[in-house]
Amino acid sequence: MRVIAATKNKGKIREIADILGELGIEVISQADAGIDVEILETGTSFIENARIKARAVALLCDDAVLADDSGLCVDALGGAPGIYSARYAGEDATDTDKINKLLSELDGETNREAHFETAVVFLYPDGRELTASGEVPGRITLSPQGEGGFGYDPVFYSTELGKTFGEATEEEKNKISHRAKALGALFELLKA
Ligand code: IMP
Repeated sequence: MRVIAATKNKGKIREIADILGELGIEVISQADAGIDVEILETGTSFIENARIKARAVALLCDDAVLADDSGLCVDALGGAPGIYSARYAGEDATDTDKINKLLSELDGETNREAHFETAVVFLYPDGRELTASGEVPGRITLSPQGEGGFGYDPVFYSTELGKTFGEATEEEKNKISHRAKALGALFELLKA
């Protein structure tokens, strides 16, 4: 089976191809499939946004489609930035802007508990849908640590790794990440 990954992020495509490749599934990027579509993420949950992306791409091809949506949820902020993680500091904000906004919102806050979350939606060519999700727990640090990763990685301390995702190697992070867990759960559903 061939699957179109509804994302432009090359790192994600590599991760998806690594995991689904074990099932003999060939993963093709949206770009390599010649699909260019602007998608408005108007859902109210990670799963809804993943479904919106998957369906938009499925309309333009005859293949199976996989889409994901992720974000950072901070307990003391009532789960924010959540589905708004990418746009938390405005449309054109940099990762540094987002981190600065997050740290200032949490200024003086002692409850730093947070988790990353991912939802994935897999659509078969006949429209049947599989969904899965994954979470990784952690804490928001007082200042950025490490230069690796992307997004909120330098301020996300993983209790499991004993360091921030910014200090972790890609391999260490990909073993335990929210995306890896969601893709692992999807892997089990596809196998069944
Ligand atoms: P996406 O849905 O995976 O594109 O993620 C949306 C936003 O959530 C990203 O722009 C990041 O700001 C944040 N995010 C998601 N996953 C991660 C991660 O693994 N590390 C850091 N930030 C992330």
